[in-house]
Amino acid sequence: MDTETQNDKVESRTAGEAGWHASRYNLFAKVPDTKMTAIANLFAGNCAEYTPIEMYLLSVLEELDEHHPIIERFAKRGIICKFDERTALDTMGRGVCAAQRSVGLTICPTMGCNFDCPYCFEDHFAGKMTAEVQDDIVALAERMMDASNAKGISVTWFGGEPLLACDVIESLTGRLLALAEDRGAEYDAGIITNGYLLTQEVADMLDRCKVSSAQITIDGLGATHDATRHLAGGGPTFDRIVSNLRNVKLPFRVQIRHNVHDGNQHEMDDLMEFVENLAKESGNDLAYYPAPVSESSAADERGKQVGLLCGTDASEVSVRQEAGRFQKGRGHYCGAHTLWSVGIDERGNLQKCWEAVDKPQISFGTAHDWDPSDPFATASNPDNLTMYLNTACPIPDDECRECVWLPMCSGGCPHKRLFSGRACVAFKDDPERYVLALHARIGETKEAERDE
Ligand code: SF4
Ligand code: SF4
Repeated sequence: MDTETQNDKVESRTAGEAGWHASRYNLFAKVPDTKMTAIANLFAGNCAEYTPIEMYLLSVLEELDEHHPIIERFAKRGIICKFDERTALDTMGRGVCAAQRSVGLTICPTMGCNFDCPYCFEDHFAGKMTAEVQDDIVALAERMMDASNAKGISVTWFGGEPLLACDVIESLTGRLLALAEDRGAEYDAGIITNGYLLTQEVADMLDRCKVSSAQITIDGLGATHDATRHLAGGGPTFDRIVSNLRNVKLPFRVQIRHNVHDGNQHEMDDLMEFVENLAKESGNDLAYYPAPVSESSAADERGKQVGLLCGTDASEVSVRQEAGRFQKGRGHYCGAHTLWSVGIDERGNLQKCWEAVDKPQISFGTAHDWDPSDPFATASNPDNLTMYLNTACPIPDDECRECVWLPMCSGGCPHKRLFSGRACVAFKDDPERYVLALHARIGETKEAERDE
């Protein structure tokens, strides 16, 4: 027991004198039709209900005796603390390039696509990954494993449409699996596909390639989907995708992504029910997942043409989506903030972000040359690397510094911050709605924990 703790026992101090203060990352909402208040703490990743008495005690926290029993209960849930959480977030952001459990490779075996969706952020150019680029990727994965000492390789097959290049998926998987085995590392893979080519033969191949999850987009029911997700050159795709999901025995979980925009937002509930029924009928593991259409210059440009960009109502989708992935503050937003996650196009260009895989002009290096043990000397354009990494520390930005959303947002999507300005949480000015969405999702669980 240290001296300070011994003194704590003998001296009578207030909680404030002992250093306790309310977390700066508490969000509050009155629970409708009750006297309770829900508090979500974004730093600790906790949401629970509090009685009026508890709320009163929180309001006079610093005057309470430091040994008051409520202190431990509040502290356990992170709504009070004795340290500077903002500084801790800064430290986490700076440390994100250090320890890493896994290296992440987002690999585009082709940038070609059989669809032509108006909101797609990619400028497609045909072409398939050569054997030489595949050699470079395996060597890069080896260097990333060596430099990070990671105990896992996590691959996402992306594109373009990756199922247009199944042979590349098969051959690269074999070699990356061998590397993982050689290093005693775990291997996992996922795929983002439009689902049009997902036959039983292809699903079996993906299973052999250790693909354990897939994301397939359905943008609405029938004609609504076909209006945006049509074949290149025209032609519907809904029936074929749904037939694949119904008739193919899928050996992995499939997230059905719904790109929500003004033109299909009204179908959210119907589509969710449709997916649930499809899962029951087929026996496949399908889960509905709404996502607002992301902003990008390509989407902007093409979205303007067809009038499909999100309106402000889409923030309702963001609320549901974010409530579904509530977690404690991590000090970074996505893999673009770390050295250990790269996107690779079919020519071997390296990017920090999925949205950039079709933009060689903002590539930071090549799979052939880049070595994360000497990341700047081996980058063909170090500025394109550092600009993403440095967005992991948004605290110099005055607005982020004072922002209650910082643990969850970490300054927002690095790509948007760099190319279209600070990307705030869509419902930043309506924290109550977020807290109530969280409360609806996990409030009961947390209450059960509390009563134990
Ligand atoms: S930078 Fe933004 S768009 Fe790119 S991977 Fe991260 S969150 Fe996604
Ligand atoms: S980007 Fe916006 S919402 Fe996020 S921390 Fe900064 S000010 Fe807050």
